[in-house]
Amino acid sequence: MKSIPNALSFDLEEWFHAEVFASLFPREKWGELESRSEAQADRVLALLATSGVRATFFILGWIAERKQSLVRRIAAEGHEIGCHGYSHTMITMQSRAEFREDVKRAKAVLEDLSGRQVRGYRAPTFSVTRETLWALELLWEMGFAYDSSIYPIRHDRYGIPGSPRVPYIAVEREGRALWEFPGATIRLPGITLPAAGGGYLRLFPYSWTRAAIRAMNRRGRPASIFAHPWEFDVELPRADLPLLSRIRHYGGIKVNARKLNRLLREFCFAPMGEVVEGIAKERESTGR
Ligand SMILES: [Zn+2]
Repeated sequence: MKSIPNALSFDLEEWFHAEVFASLFPREKWGELESRSEAQADRVLALLATSGVRATFFILGWIAERKQSLVRRIAAEGHEIGCHGYSHTMITMQSRAEFREDVKRAKAVLEDLSGRQVRGYRAPTFSVTRETLWALELLWEMGFAYDSSIYPIRHDRYGIPGSPRVPYIAVEREGRALWEFPGATIRLPGITLPAAGGGYLRLFPYSWTRAAIRAMNRRGRPASIFAHPWEFDVELPRADLPLLSRIRHYGGIKVNARKLNRLLREFCFAPMGEVVEGIAKERESTGR
């Protein structure tokens, strides 16, 4: 079961960038808040190094500017540097021009620091939805090779229910493709449910995560597993949130590192860019 490489990725941002804090910690306050991203990322990097696994880090431009040595270190350790935009604004709140500027700015900082071309993008809060599908065209124009921002599920903040569950070409022009790599899901009769990422990894039993990846791998499909480094921080600052948000945001943090370690032992992982490249090559060779 270990043979299919699944895509492992981390969205690197500060703990206060999560959408649930958008009104509590607006952008003007970010500079006053405790920065924990470097220590959190180091913890994840150590877990990956111990298992000899490389992953993709979709890094926020705002973080990259302030943690330059961290970005260089992540790249030097063999991980892929992806782009998480600059200001962590959901695309659903941006005009096309604002989106383009935000992504361009982050991409330039990340490429400058890593010395490599940034090929992958993940939107804040998976905000490529039916209303913002235009973002994919713009990502193609900006030279990205893949996006990983569409969750094929029903959710109050994001998701395109019924969209493909496995990697597919979203834009293809002039002989160049932009792939979409959706988050892992489980298909049950009449419904597709999320698995293996963020709160779904933290809150659902490990057996759920394992079942999702196994089911996808059994069909020869890679799964996309994602997390945020703050989701492994047992000393995460506690903000006063409504009960449901509190459970969604803080639940399962204590057991998350154990779950990730188990995943790293039981499945094969690679940076998302490499998994996409593998699929693209296979498609080319088989003509499908
Ligand atoms: Zn984010």
